[in-house]
Amino acid sequence: MNNNTIPYKLLLTENEIPTRWYNLRADMKNKPAPLLNPETHKPMTFEELRKVFCDELARQELDDTTPYIDIPTPIRDFYRMFRPAPLVRAYYLEKALNTPAHIYYKFEGNNTSGSHKLNSAVAQAYYAKEQGLKGVTTETGAGQWGTALSMACSYFDLICKVFMVKVSYEQKPHRREVMRTYGASVTASPSETTAVGRKILAEHPGTGGSLGCAISEAVESALSQDGFRYVLGSVLSQVVLHQSIIGLETKTALDKYGVKPDIVIGCAGGGSNLGGLIAPFMGDKIKGVADCRIIAVEPASCPSLTRGAYAYDYCDTGAVCPLAKMYTLGSSFMPSANHAGGLRYHGMSSILSQLYDDGLMEARSVEQSKVFEAATFFARCEGTLPAPESSHAIRAAIDEAVRCRETGKQETIVFGLTGTGYFDMYAYQKFNDGIMSDYIPTDDEIAKSLAKLPQVNA
Ligand SMILES: *Cc1c(COP(=O)(O)O)cnc(C)c1O
Repeated sequence: MNNNTIPYKLLLTENEIPTRWYNLRADMKNKPAPLLNPETHKPMTFEELRKVFCDELARQELDDTTPYIDIPTPIRDFYRMFRPAPLVRAYYLEKALNTPAHIYYKFEGNNTSGSHKLNSAVAQAYYAKEQGLKGVTTETGAGQWGTALSMACSYFDLICKVFMVKVSYEQKPHRREVMRTYGASVTASPSETTAVGRKILAEHPGTGGSLGCAISEAVESALSQDGFRYVLGSVLSQVVLHQSIIGLETKTALDKYGVKPDIVIGCAGGGSNLGGLIAPFMGDKIKGVADCRIIAVEPASCPSLTRGAYAYDYCDTGAVCPLAKMYTLGSSFMPSANHAGGLRYHGMSSILSQLYDDGLMEARSVEQSKVFEAATFFARCEGTLPAPESSHAIRAAIDEAVRCRETGKQETIVFGLTGTGYFDMYAYQKFNDGIMSDYIPTDDEIAKSLAKLPQVNA
């Protein structure tokens, strides 16, 4: 099809919502390393995992051989409320950049939770309900995951207990109220309600908390109540599996219009949206069917892929979760307090870590002032106010489009626009007031944190 006939939105119908998730691990030649039991350092078994996670999710976590997994009908019914997500040809951005590049973005912010996290939240809540559980516990940082899970739990009539990182709890009261509106209970973390929370408070009085602490509290809370399991919004392979819906829809729409991407770009926090977006493209790349560059973009203040070590590490501060082999800055790493751009997790999905280590994916880090510059530019061209996290991908897409302008190359760039920035106006305010600063950790700081990695002979 002639490129001039491509509409602004490459729409799909409801019937074109994928019916199966794609499990990229099945096609990976080097499989991601298994999760290890934090005490024995042996690979986690199904029996061990099912104490923490729902049975079906534990199965999905361990399954690295089944390429396609059917999406149960109740999940597809829920997806219809906000999917297919639009794939947009960024004509106005292209024009403003005066670039020969063709730019597309997949927008996942068109639901109340405001991000892609609802894709996995609804799956996880469904499997918990199917198993007859009473409820789930989780952590949330900026609040998107907690909001998504609250929505999914209210739909499936489950109790939802959210441990919210204390700084966010205080800075983002509106996020908190959205969760409560959907019936969730929200506790600022660290809290006095768990042993690990009390321990962290005793060691660091007045701390604003971290994702790693909140995870430890949520896991303890699930393990100490009958009929509860813990759910996690990123990093795990099951979450990447659910998020493959992003990439599958993107590929279906591009195929429909005969578009082949040269570059696929996503922001990388724990790796779930990126892993989901790239899944079918990476699958084709591994199988030799089609090739494209794949770029992960992370914050310069929390650069796990570009400056971390590839090693087994704790997923949480309290070291109650299984160990994962991943690119990591060490579980005690805390991004600088002036970092406002999200993506502050210390590690990275073990799937993406392996792909990166195999040289199948590129990674770069960007400073937050440059990220907000790109966010503002994009908002003024394309109308949508992007989440700071998503704006890392925008930054890289703009930089690639400018390179195309300079070299005169017409390349096709696809990036993931994971969410809206409505709840991030505190960060935008800093940028607008000109008081946003960039902090890049020193080699020393990173080395100090990496020195605390667990010793694993695997
Ligand atoms: C949570 C979040 C991310 C980062 O998480 P990943 O697991 O790396 O995808 C990115 N963008 C938005 C809007 C988010 O809410």
